Amino acid sequence: AKAKGRSQYQIYSKTISKQLSEEMVIEKYLYEAAENQDFMLYYQPFIDMEAGKVVGTEALIRWYHPKKGFIPPDKFIPLAEKTGLIVPIGNWVLQEACRQNKAWQDQGYKPITMSINISALQFARDDFIEVVKCTLKEVGLAPEYIALEITEGIAVENIEENILKLRQLKELGVKISIDDFGTGFSSLSYFTKFPIDSLKIDRSFIQNITNCPQSRAIVSTIISMGRALGIENIAEGIETKNQLDFIKKENCNKAQGYLFSKPITPKDFEKLLIDNKKY
Ligand code: C2E
Ligand code: CA
Ligand code: CA
Ligand code: CA
Repeated sequence: AKAKGRSQYQIYSKTISKQLSEEMVIEKYLYEAAENQDFMLYYQPFIDMEAGKVVGTEALIRWYHPKKGFIPPDKFIPLAEKTGLIVPIGNWVLQEACRQNKAWQDQGYKPITMSINISALQFARDDFIEVVKCTLKEVGLAPEYIALEITEGIAVENIEENILKLRQLKELGVKISIDDFGTGFSSLSYFTKFPIDSLKIDRSFIQNITNCPQSRAIVSTIISMGRALGIENIAEGIETKNQLDFIKKENCNKAQGYLFSKPITPKDFEKLLIDNKKY
């Protein structure tokens, strides 16, 4: 029994150390990637429900490592947050997304809003507003063409400080969007104090619209609450015609999801802009 116990322990510890070293390898690669800015942004359109047209896009980071292949953001963003690398990476995302949006405007496409994911750690930095301001100035993009996607977490800790920050961002002219709305367990009272332009209804609710009456109730409640508060509603993760029909019936303002397009390369997104298709 003793021998068996030891061998089990050895197997266990081997697995753990394998996982650890795997993470350490990725961590090392991540440092290199952050230094060399080895990332790409893909773009996923937002469709305005009334006009049926592309009115915006979300920038989504992509990392292709020559040895490891494609590493999804759900895997490396948490690591970037743990190591603090999210700050330089996030600054690069901000810069690149703004530059791309300005480039599309300069090419004569109808101006669209660029949504940019902001990690709580980035938002918490003292220089965050300055970084946004300088980036926009450097790139020459008007602030109204970006929306910062932040999560409800900002309404849980350092509330007073965060309200102040959001107000300063609003003064600057950028838009504020609450990402993954409904999953953060924060108090709804922040809607009265936080200057918010839009909320993105989390995909987990959208997913269950067709088979779960509770999810339908949640989605329609969020939409009518947003409308009553003058906040725009965006449904994320729309994959089926049924889901689209439901959110349209509820008068949701905008939608995003595989039904319209997956996140695509800048070149392919440009084709969408050229097509100017009606959805
Ligand atoms: P998110 O901000 O909630 O982004 C939405 C995710 O859902 C994206 O995954 C997108 O590709 C995916 N998605 C969109 N429509 C559909 C759909 O119809 N069905 C399904 N199944 N999925 C859909 P992605 O690109 O893998 O990103 C995952 C998460 O990584 C993001 O979730 C966000 O939290 C984070 N992330 C991505 N890019 C950045 C970034 O530049 N900065 C930061 N801080 N986080 C990022
Ligand atoms: Ca997002
Ligand atoms: Ca989201
Ligand atoms: Ca999400």
